[in-house]
Amino acid sequence: MYSDVLKRETGNSFLVKAGQVIRIEQRPSADGNNGRTQIMDVLMVTTDLEQYSDHLNSTAIEGFNQRLYSGIWSQSRHFRKMATLVEDEFPYEQLPEGFTHIWLAAHCSPEYIGLAHGLDKVTNSCHENFLHAFSRIPAIANIEDEKIRKEVTQFFADRNDWNIFQGNQFMLDEQNITRARMCPTPPVEDGTAIEWYAEQDMYVVISNCPYGDQHTCYTEIHNNDVFIESSTQASSRTHQH
Ligand SMILES: [Zn+2]
Repeated sequence: MYSDVLKRETGNSFLVKAGQVIRIEQRPSADGNNGRTQIMDVLMVTTDLEQYSDHLNSTAIEGFNQRLYSGIWSQSRHFRKMATLVEDEFPYEQLPEGFTHIWLAAHCSPEYIGLAHGLDKVTNSCHENFLHAFSRIPAIANIEDEKIRKEVTQFFADRNDWNIFQGNQFMLDEQNITRARMCPTPPVEDGTAIEWYAEQDMYVVISNCPYGDQHTCYTEIHNNDVFIESSTQASSRTHQH
């Protein structure tokens, strides 16, 4: 249907109609990229804005991580399946024992990065990317009242999302509190992707995380462009992991 580039440190919304597939692909050795894997954050909303990908409803059914054939579900009142992970080419064997790469969590924000790095002024994060990306969705862009338009954009950008290509493991700490531990993501080969099958007409809203390479610190970071494709058929490249 189309192919597109999600430039480093930006966000955008990608239309995927029911029955179509969106492919999110890494090309670490593409021009200007750093040879490593790019972390991204993903949200979904139906084209009429009625349903959005819901963190807690999805964890109730699928757990805190996603693996092949996991679903993403919408919020209460609807609680319908929005998407199914139909392709996952991630090289799991290169992660430390017990780690995986897709998890539900918060996304980075100026406050989060500021706290983590002791910085006063942070100018870019997934939160800004989501604000930009949601504001481009026609049903939001067409809201005439500026105040309402901003509130709607903010509401969607505040949702917790799916972190992809981010090494992580949920584990108990010394006080038996469950915490997510992250690790730098191993470099993947060019062409490594995941694909979601859309169960409904929707926008897949993706932040190319400005904090998306945990081999280095936020102030030194150099992020990668990633490649988006929409098609009517899923790839069949997945091997049994
Ligand atoms: Zn981020």
